[in-house]
Amino acid sequence: MTPHPIYYHPQTYNAMRLTNGKPLSFGGPVAQRCTAFPTIGWPFGGDLRRSRLCRLVAAAWFVLLPGAAAAVESEAQATAPESPLIYIDTSFENASPVDWSFGESGEVFVNLMYDHQRSSPNRAAGHIFFAVEAPAGSTVRLVLQRFDNVWNGKPGSPVSERTVLRVSEDGKRWSAVGTQYDKTANRLTVDLSMTAGRLFVARLEPYRLSDLDELKRRIANCPGVRIETIGRTVEGRELEMISIGRADAPHHVLIRARAHPWETGGNWVIEGLIDRLLADAAEHPNRQSRYQVHIMPLANKDGVARGRTRFNSRGYDLNRQWGAPADPALAPENAALEAWLQRMIAAGKRPGLAIDLHNDEQGKLHLSRPDEGAEAYLGLMNRFESLLRKHTWFREGSTGATFRNPGSFGEGLWARYQVPACVLELNANHISVEAQSGRGAGPTAEKPVSEGTNRSPARTDSSKNNRLERTADAELWRQMGAGLVDVFFDFFADTGENRDSR
Ligand SMILES: [Zn+2]
Repeated sequence: MTPHPIYYHPQTYNAMRLTNGKPLSFGGPVAQRCTAFPTIGWPFGGDLRRSRLCRLVAAAWFVLLPGAAAAVESEAQATAPESPLIYIDTSFENASPVDWSFGESGEVFVNLMYDHQRSSPNRAAGHIFFAVEAPAGSTVRLVLQRFDNVWNGKPGSPVSERTVLRVSEDGKRWSAVGTQYDKTANRLTVDLSMTAGRLFVARLEPYRLSDLDELKRRIANCPGVRIETIGRTVEGRELEMISIGRADAPHHVLIRARAHPWETGGNWVIEGLIDRLLADAAEHPNRQSRYQVHIMPLANKDGVARGRTRFNSRGYDLNRQWGAPADPALAPENAALEAWLQRMIAAGKRPGLAIDLHNDEQGKLHLSRPDEGAEAYLGLMNRFESLLRKHTWFREGSTGATFRNPGSFGEGLWARYQVPACVLELNANHISVEAQSGRGAGPTAEKPVSEGTNRSPARTDSSKNNRLERTADAELWRQMGAGLVDVFFDFFADTGENRDSR
């Protein structure tokens, strides 16, 4: 029962204070309160806080604690830091709450904050977005930590050797920056070259509530656009459904993004999709007659507003528990979408495809194996995957033959509403692209970097012949969104009774 070395004691951590640059601890006998050990209950299941076992666990912690405490203390004891860091600013929209301390070697330990799932050991920290202030020309070594997430009751990390961060001087033009990953400590180190006195650091190119407001302003008066409020979040924010195309189209597609607040890729896909749909409405009006797209662009608005990582403001994972109706008090964001779906189905407009857009470190299409109708479901999803490969740069593939994730958006919508649905994870770091050209195909061997962007150049991966790797960015995700217009057009060709005449 050895604790993971980096599951340090949060109460001890919180008890460390620096006053006039010197550490001051007022921790006291924290072991007397078992609520001080919220992160160690999970391996055993159930509520251990008042149990005898909890007291034993607490005692074990104090046997094992000195190493962890010493590590924390050594971070906090540097009273004359060598680091050029002046300040880490998290005062702006969607910034990730962090605290930090100076290390003895001039590094700055930046501690993320977890958000937690209710009635569960699950917790998540992975959203990174803050501004570093230090003299221009200096280098700030940041050591990012507290990535000890718990998913589905198991420890997991949202970062790896492949993780890249994004840096920007103005918050608009972003460049990728590599990191060093320490697997044992589950930490990311980045040496930040201060090209200006203030640099934004982010996990992904941010997409905030204000970005959605700007999109809505831009498209509200375009033909074929309908923006409807379908409900409100826990904290009362409006939940939008943006519909594009003809309401009497024979086919309907549902797209949701930002169930998990840190995963911004889906919003850039949606921007690319909408731009192409609106351009096509003028150029190729016949395309719009085949399908209408319905987009829930920011499902977890509260989490985005608060700079959180995964759960909503009542500790609910909006990509779980889709096997049964959502509790409107705990997950009004899902309840609103369910009510919308039921209205659509009652009106004879059952979506023929639904996609939940996410980001992770693998970038696969997640296909579950439902109890009922798995063969029909997988047939449709294989068709979707092959069209993604044809019309976009997507090459990551789908989950394996034994993959199952009951309660996720994909399986839940199929089981309850007979809507073929999937979770599409967008690779948060690099994408592999074949050296080819075409709309939505991404960078090519001849033209590895999109014009007008300030991105890291693609690099050839010799292990994959004829393939390039490029850091995933908003421009690539926009290209995928543009390609989805063709994916949907072909997906609904010659399928079923609503067949459209070309
Ligand atoms: Zn996700």
